[in-house]
Amino acid sequence: MQILGIRTDDAKGILNLDLDDGTQCSLSYTRLRTACRCAECTALHRRGGSIAAADIILKTIEPVGSNALNLHFSDGHARGIYPLPYLVELAMAKLQA
Ligand SMILES: [Zn+2]
Repeated sequence: MQILGIRTDDAKGILNLDLDDGTQCSLSYTRLRTACRCAECTALHRRGGSIAAADIILKTIEPVGSNALNLHFSDGHARGIYPLPYLVELAMAKLQA
């Protein structure tokens, strides 16, 4: 699976991904920020903490290899690496919710 297209919608706060199998994923910036799995955020969740991300904006998207993204957020957090399977999983979980 590969990402063919990346589109951001800052007005709606949504990241849209086009995948090579024709799938389109939509993920809110808030969802992405709270789902960050870097060591820092994982430790915070483990302590029972939560990430304030209601008005978060996605500032920069950097591809990591061929199928992961490093996302930089407006709160200065830029350590999260999001592998494509994880992004798809998040998008699907949202659809089912
Ligand atoms: Zn993080």
